[in-house]
Amino acid sequence: MNPLEERIIEEGIVLPGDILKVDKFINHMIDPELFVKLADEFYERFKNKEIDKILTLEVSGIGIAFACGLKFKKPVLFAKKTVSKTLGSDVYTSQVYSFTKKINYDIMVAKEFLQKGERVLIIDDFLANGKAIEGLVDLCNQAGAKVQGIGILIEKDFQPGGKKIREEGFQLESLAIIEKFENGKVVFKESIS
Ligand code: 5GP
Repeated sequence: MNPLEERIIEEGIVLPGDILKVDKFINHMIDPELFVKLADEFYERFKNKEIDKILTLEVSGIGIAFACGLKFKKPVLFAKKTVSKTLGSDVYTSQVYSFTKKINYDIMVAKEFLQKGERVLIIDDFLANGKAIEGLVDLCNQAGAKVQGIGILIEKDFQPGGKKIREEGFQLESLAIIEKFENGKVVFKESIS
């Protein structure tokens, strides 16, 4: 088992509705040393790709995207979910359906920070139905930026996002892939290293 899988087994909690709670090290409290190790792993998987920028979604993607930004030595851009006075109106916008909250919301990036021709690595915490990633890819498409790869901490293989994204031809790398939840326990699809 890799370090992420080990932590999921030790501290992850399976909630009703096919949701894994990992608030002890990803979604509420963050383990920086673990994130640095996971960023190293993303680097190994994407080091053959030219990357100009890391793109993620606030809030939960920012921690791991920051660690990746340090490793790749590239800036990190996070799409915002709320309009703020500082954001301005010159933005790309996409609509995302939230798996955990069951609502639609807009995600936005300022046009000045996502440029035509930029090569982007998308990073996020979870992949379920793929709506968050579709929204981030859509922002890149609107900008004319090229998605070079997609890195996910935890993919739930029994939900359709991963299959769809791979079929679209993207290099999708997930550091822990969950095959199923069984009696409140996590079963991984395959152990990576
Ligand atoms: P998707 O858009 O792929 O359906 O869902 C991905 C987003 O929903 C992630 O950015 C994450 O915030 C949230 N999410 C999906 N599944 C889970 C889960 O099992 N646990 C947690 N904590 N968040 C999840």
